Amino acid sequence: MGRLGILAGIVGIALSSADALSQSSRPATIYEGARLIVGDASAPIEGGAFVVQDGRITAIGRKGAINAPSGATHVDLTGKTVMPTLINVHVHIGYEGYTSWGADNYTPANVLDHLRREAFYGIAVTQSVGSSPTDASIQFKNDQEAGKFPPASRFMFMPGMAPPHGGPDAILMKGTDALHAVNEVSTPAEARAAVQSMAAKQLKSVKIWVDDRRGTYPKMTPDVYNAIIAEAHAHGMMVNAHAIALPDQKAVVSAGIDVLVHTVGNEKLDAEYVSIVRSKKPYWTTVIGLGDRSEACNRDAFVDQTYPAKALDAIRSESCAPRPENPAREEILSYNVKQMVASGARLVLGTDAGIAARHAFGWADHHEIARWVELGVTPSEAIVAATSRPAELLGLKDLGTLATGKTASFVVLNANPLDNIKNMRQIEGVYLNGARLDREAMAKTFTAR
Ligand SMILES: [Zn+2]
Repeated sequence: MGRLGILAGIVGIALSSADALSQSSRPATIYEGARLIVGDASAPIEGGAFVVQDGRITAIGRKGAINAPSGATHVDLTGKTVMPTLINVHVHIGYEGYTSWGADNYTPANVLDHLRREAFYGIAVTQSVGSSPTDASIQFKNDQEAGKFPPASRFMFMPGMAPPHGGPDAILMKGTDALHAVNEVSTPAEARAAVQSMAAKQLKSVKIWVDDRRGTYPKMTPDVYNAIIAEAHAHGMMVNAHAIALPDQKAVVSAGIDVLVHTVGNEKLDAEYVSIVRSKKPYWTTVIGLGDRSEACNRDAFVDQTYPAKALDAIRSESCAPRPENPAREEILSYNVKQMVASGARLVLGTDAGIAARHAFGWADHHEIARWVELGVTPSEAIVAATSRPAELLGLKDLGTLATGKTASFVVLNANPLDNIKNMRQIEGVYLNGARLDREAMAKTFTAR
């Protein structure tokens, strides 16, 4: 071997051992003393401890029963509560601009802004459903995975399908039309071809709308959605269905969709539907909060901290008239939410954030969760529906609970959300992949828009 060869060999060894050193000796951190809510409905670990190394949880249990690796940093969380980061399976990303709304705002920078807002409020994964242009979204996802962006909620998306001139509501459609974000299909053959092209791009889900918007839209017909469901399932894909009316929900759940979006709000569920839900057990996202600006109207600092002042002024001048009391609707919602859960519908967190101006990213998650509890879901069930169950739905094996081997993405709270679900808003810190977010700096960029 020549001298150069030897030199190259030595350099090679030096590099690889330095590599190994930096990987194995990155200091661990042990977080001690907090109540740990695991996220799977099990009893919380009081006085818990967990070790984080290289962005993962490497040990978890009662304080004292967990050994800290030598050299570990100790962080005292006595009096705090720690829970897994949340997962939002239903938003419409990219269009909201806080002082404007529309396709002109749809840029990678704006998508990132929305994902950072979700992260600020403790949401580690955010899925845009049916309204994001496919190729740009694949590019964004790849760039984020390659580490090109600052810390943010992990981006996921699925394309949409609807009949020509059907699908999203009139506002969202202005955005999706301009970006050709919804695949328009009229026949089963077109529907199958569209699903095949999604499968070829490795997409895992598709969204369909089954709604005639009170007779003003063409509604997707059963032969078309049956073709979509069959083709999607043949490719291992899931179908998310928007359906608001009871007959439409019966039809799509019977047909075998995987994720139901929306809650029937104008009539009580009947025995026929309850038995359909019981046999099909769809995942289900309620998206009840849309249109409710009560926190912003009440000057809740939890909302105000991330809103540009101009946007808050606009909300307060346009959207804060006293809402007509509707005890009948509230009673129907409470009945239906409890019936759905009791019948085996698998509740998952979704907000519809971004579908209309100022129904915003991040705090809308907390609004939706609090509404569930008002309508009869227990705090423990609500936490599962915002953490481990959406992780299961999205196939995210590294997230959803606090457990050994999981990604160290967690929220530190100053109060216990099992006592009062709104304590989930008392955020002391958010950690993604083991790193604490600089929430103060983030909020400054949000309010400066
Ligand atoms: Zn939606």
